[in-house]
Amino acid sequence: MNRRRFLGASLSSLALAACAGRSSLVLAQCAPRTEPNIEGPFYTPGAPLTDALGESPHLALSGLVRDSSCRPLGDAVMEFWQADSEGEYDLRGNRFRGQLRTDAAGRYQLHTIEPGRYLNGATYRPAHIHVKVHANGHPPLTTQLYFPRDPHNESDPWFRSSLLIHRLRSGCHGRGRASRARFDFVL
Ligand code: FE
Repeated sequence: MNRRRFLGASLSSLALAACAGRSSLVLAQCAPRTEPNIEGPFYTPGAPLTDALGESPHLALSGLVRDSSCRPLGDAVMEFWQADSEGEYDLRGNRFRGQLRTDAAGRYQLHTIEPGRYLNGATYRPAHIHVKVHANGHPPLTTQLYFPRDPHNESDPWFRSSLLIHRLRSGCHGRGRASRARFDFVL
């Protein structure tokens, strides 16, 4: 198939998907499964139930949790932990630690901040958010989400481009002006 016919076929299938009420995003993101990534040394279990981390979150991260057949995984538990804006983890309490559950459609939304970077040996780790996802019938997923254009992404041994969040246009979300980003998980 030449490039023009391939593009034509792709557009046709996207149009069909739209007619069937499914967005192209749904088709594009049910496979492959989300890559795991290291847990790191700062995980603690039992974080409070909350969808907002820190005192003044400015980043709304949202998306879907689905299985590889695109079925939404409702009531999945998502644990988040991250550094503060200075690159520090709370090792005694639950600052910038929280867990939430997806709704029946597999949707989640977390209000947080873009974490600071911290030294790991001689190099900085890029900004990242740690996540664990627990859904019935699936092994738990432990991974990390990264930020586009972080200057430390390429030198970081754990960075994976498949784990980049997708920045969306900013908007108002009931918590003041926030930047928005999306990441969909596939278990
Ligand atoms: Fe970390």
